[in-house]
Amino acid sequence: MVLRLSTLFLRTLREDPADADVASHRLLVRAGYIRRAAPGIYSWLPLGLRVLGKVETIIREEMAAIGAQEVHFPALLPREPYEATNRWTEYGDNLFRLQDRKGADYLLAPTHEEMFTLLVKDLYSSYKDLPVSLFQIQNKYRDEARPRAGLLRGREFIMKDSYSFDIDDEGLEASYQAHRGAYLRIFERLGLDIVVVSAVSGAMGGSKSEEFLHPTPVGEDTYVRSAGGYAANVEAVTTVAPESVDYADAPAAEVVDTPDTPTIETLVADVNARFPRAEGEWTAADTLKNVVLAVTLPTGERQVVVVGVPGDRTVDLKRIEANIGAHLEMGGEVEVDAAGDEDLAKHPGLVKGYIGPGLSLSEAVLGTESATGLLYLVDPRVVEGTRWITGANVTGKHVIGLVAGRDFTWDGVIESVEVREGDPAPDGSGPLEAARGIEMGHIFQLGRKYAEALGLKVLDRNGKLATVTMGSYGVGVTRAVAALAESNHDDKGIVWPRSVAPADVHVVATGKGADVFEAAERLSADLEAAGLEVIYDDRPKVSPGVKFGDAELIGVPTILVVGRGLADGVVEVKDRATGAAENVPVDEAVDYVLRAARQ
Ligand code: ATP
Ligand code: MG
Repeated sequence: MVLRLSTLFLRTLREDPADADVASHRLLVRAGYIRRAAPGIYSWLPLGLRVLGKVETIIREEMAAIGAQEVHFPALLPREPYEATNRWTEYGDNLFRLQDRKGADYLLAPTHEEMFTLLVKDLYSSYKDLPVSLFQIQNKYRDEARPRAGLLRGREFIMKDSYSFDIDDEGLEASYQAHRGAYLRIFERLGLDIVVVSAVSGAMGGSKSEEFLHPTPVGEDTYVRSAGGYAANVEAVTTVAPESVDYADAPAAEVVDTPDTPTIETLVADVNARFPRAEGEWTAADTLKNVVLAVTLPTGERQVVVVGVPGDRTVDLKRIEANIGAHLEMGGEVEVDAAGDEDLAKHPGLVKGYIGPGLSLSEAVLGTESATGLLYLVDPRVVEGTRWITGANVTGKHVIGLVAGRDFTWDGVIESVEVREGDPAPDGSGPLEAARGIEMGHIFQLGRKYAEALGLKVLDRNGKLATVTMGSYGVGVTRAVAALAESNHDDKGIVWPRSVAPADVHVVATGKGADVFEAAERLSADLEAAGLEVIYDDRPKVSPGVKFGDAELIGVPTILVVGRGLADGVVEVKDRATGAAENVPVDEAVDYVLRAARQ
């Protein structure tokens, strides 16, 4: 059916919505695709649903092509399965929790690993049933701390999530690669540039994980790449650690008085003035900065942790957040902040400005054992035998020549400082440069974590019960609509790629004459009969300026104007993307538009 603007449920807006700070948000609202219902929650209008439907169709086709089968789960789910995997707690404040009239706990699902696992457990019992991949396209709910940029980060959003079930690791690898391929084809068909980066899996647990980032300055993810082809989320970049150093001949560490040197700069200046060394000036890189952090666990408890990093580097809380899970007793999403005075007050062993590598500055160094009893982690650059100037855990005192592994130890190594442009890529493919992107998709090898927690076992070839291994794979469907609008717009409006445009052609009738409207009407019908999707601006009393403005705002790839030229037997066909316009004889117009649409 031709979509007539005289009756289409649409009001375009001249003004930008006040809360919109990125172009896709502004334009999707102004062009009548979506309306805000609540912060981070949107209603879809007819045009928006058409675009959304096209994105979903591409995703469905590519999922079907790898043999994944579509199912559909409720969004409203009982607590128990999420309790079994501990995600009821681990999801923290991001989870929408609610109760039914009997007081039973429910949640609005942020993702569905548990339910898929239980469904397969319900129905399958043998390795012969595997592999299987299931998916759905469904609403997800996350009470994001900062819903932003319209559909880019919503609190209700649509995700395509799939899950693979295999009997062994090779099977999982094959399912993972199949999804990886499908994702590349999905984004290719959508016309979204993608960089695949290796990622840390965060709350999901599991091992291998990659993200599909769309490079854009409005993205919230920083990633790095090298000329040699390495790409990774900064949270996943691993540091090229130096070799450990022989310290057999290292002199004993020396505790020195360094009054009024609470910062790295004051300290470096002071030791250069008073304790110069033969090998050249001391620099910030010779100091070990011990940073006190407060980790907020999913339960809400705060745990104080100390991280030792070279003094010339800046601590990166996000990298620590992503990697600290391995060092904590509890899994799940944690928040890491700089510790406040009240955290410090609880640990008198921490002397502000002079904090040492707290765990075990040996007695030999200080004359007294100084242990704070806190978890102490170090940056990978702190390897055995490296020598440091650092705090002595005593006001006004530092230690010079403190040898890692001899004079102090640590509980673990953690990626904890900012990745800098120019740092080497871990695979030796050259220096790193930074870029911004938005996460469009994410694939994980979950392994057996969920199957174990929920008891998904099948009989293997030998008739023994074996735990199934799983993968989980997500695409942000509503986010894809926003990303497409974001990367395809100009100052007049959206410029949809053909693959997802709400129509192929937007026919505009301008002028007052009945002949213009009759011709436009006929052309619209013919275009539709030729298999094209048509929007027809048949509004009788709207000025040409307003009609052109709306056509450009809405962003259909081809605009066909029936107006003054009709007297000479021509209509104007405009390419929305390039702005190129051509006069085409009326009876050739359908073929002309068909050719443009099939390019
Ligand atoms: P992000 O890091 O952006 O918060 P995530 O890593 O939490 O995303 P996943 O759990 O991996 O997201 O979800 C799979 C996909 O769902 C993401 O790759 C993204 O495209 C989409 N998605 C996640 N959160 C949102 C959201 N709040 N709004 C819209 N889409 C989202
Ligand atoms: Mg993700």
